[in-house]
Amino acid sequence: MNTASDARAALHGFLHRHTKFLLTTHVNPDGDAIGSEVAFARWLLARGKQVRILNDSPTPRAFAWLTDENPIECWTEALAEERFAEADALVVLDTGNKARIGRLAKHLELHAIAVAIVDHHVTHDGFGQVNVIEPQQASASSLVFELMREADWTPDTRAAEALYVGLSTDTGNFRYSNTDAAAHRMAAALVEAGVDPQDATARVSATAPPGRLRFFGEVLAGLQMLEDGRVVVIEAAPEQFERHGLSGSDTEGLVDLPRTIAGVEVVALFSEVEPDKVKVSLRSTGRVSIDQVCSRLGGGGHPHAAGVPLRGSREDAKAKILPELGKLLAALDAAPPAGARG
Ligand code: 5GP
Ligand code: MN
Repeated sequence: MNTASDARAALHGFLHRHTKFLLTTHVNPDGDAIGSEVAFARWLLARGKQVRILNDSPTPRAFAWLTDENPIECWTEALAEERFAEADALVVLDTGNKARIGRLAKHLELHAIAVAIVDHHVTHDGFGQVNVIEPQQASASSLVFELMREADWTPDTRAAEALYVGLSTDTGNFRYSNTDAAAHRMAAALVEAGVDPQDATARVSATAPPGRLRFFGEVLAGLQMLEDGRVVVIEAAPEQFERHGLSGSDTEGLVDLPRTIAGVEVVALFSEVEPDKVKVSLRSTGRVSIDQVCSRLGGGGHPHAAGVPLRGSREDAKAKILPELGKLLAALDAAPPAGARG
């Protein structure tokens, strides 16, 4: 039988067996992606392994401080060839979808390299020889922390900070539905390992240029309420990114703000960083699951936080997404009230 503990045991064997590791994560990495990579790298380095970290996309400004001692390289054709040639194992963190590792995916086809996945997403294709994929984990960092504990490794302060950033960003600072007792227990252990929560949170959140807040203000000023106030739609145009000197990763946190409006079930952000390249981000405040709306279009995520990149205009993207959200709300209306049966 293939159980979660079998997969974890297989991963421990994998880490024991191999010596030269390459780590990666998904395109447009978030705090959990960077945090789990840095912590994992420190764990392997402490065991005398060779470790490199190579991502498709650059590290967002907010998380760059985590990489001071453990640099993360950004894909170029030549660099990726070199890194894949010298490594004997690849560990993919915070995604289980091959397409989500971006331009690294094609190098996998060309190199006989063992692959292990450490992820917490519902949507995955499990392309590793070892797949530790546990959707009940609040963050990939939570899973990494449990794996470290199983191996009797207590994270040093830098690794603990990286894990704390992963956990706190993926739980929206311990506010989202994935915030459980395990998340708070883990936070406590990380604080005991030397993390200063005030400092770590400030380093992540107080890194924005003023233009980012002006941009948020503009985008929020244009918010639209649909479906009797249960769906909030916000959108950003290429011109706005350009005028404020921002990139796609600067929208981090934007989609979460309209959740504070009373009665909202779903927030949808249509972010057009470049003309005809729209990144859709969906958030549910808890009653509807929105991951399938994204996975049907080639994206994915979690029941209450998911995304998908789409080609075409924002109007095209809205035409694909908004009717699906309408259907989810109609299904909610049709469902018997909580507690009722039959
Ligand atoms: P965000 O909207 O912040 O980009 O993503 C929300 C969640 O959905 C995150 O857990 C993220 O990893 C996941 N996600 C976002 N875009 C995609 C995508 O294109 N494919 C998959 N599989 N997951 C995504
Ligand atoms: Mn994550």
